[in-house]
Amino acid sequence: MAAGGTRAIGDDASEGQKHRLIYHHILPFKRYHEAHHENPRAYVGAPPLLGTFLVFLTSFIPFAMVAPIIANGVSVGMLAGYTLYMFIHYAIHFWEPPPGSLLYRARLRHAMHHYRDNRGNFGVSTSFWDRVFGTRIQRVMEHSLAS
Ligand SMILES: [Zn+2]
Ligand SMILES: [Zn+2]
Repeated sequence: MAAGGTRAIGDDASEGQKHRLIYHHILPFKRYHEAHHENPRAYVGAPPLLGTFLVFLTSFIPFAMVAPIIANGVSVGMLAGYTLYMFIHYAIHFWEPPPGSLLYRARLRHAMHHYRDNRGNFGVSTSFWDRVFGTRIQRVMEHSLAS
């Protein structure tokens, strides 16, 4: 349980770099993601079973060789993080959160990725890894206020 929770937080935090690597460079994910960029409000994306299979392949199998209980915890954490990512991404595109809320800021950040420059703001729920890797795109208003 604790291992799963810890992994969920780590999975959530690194989602931006996965977005950049997997969705923008690796087929067939690149094709699904391009369809999302062309029509952000359409229900398109990688089939959930494909994502689940990849979690099993990258989380369960390597840890199962060490200890099955760790593999279970890591896999549950990864699936929880993946589910949270999908939920937040859906909410960003379809909900209208109140201005100033975390979801509102995430929505603005993701809109920059979609409509201004798809080479940045890869993180959906957090900008942490975009800040770490220098891929954060600031809003035009932030630039004008800073200068
Ligand atoms: Zn999107
Ligand atoms: Zn993208």
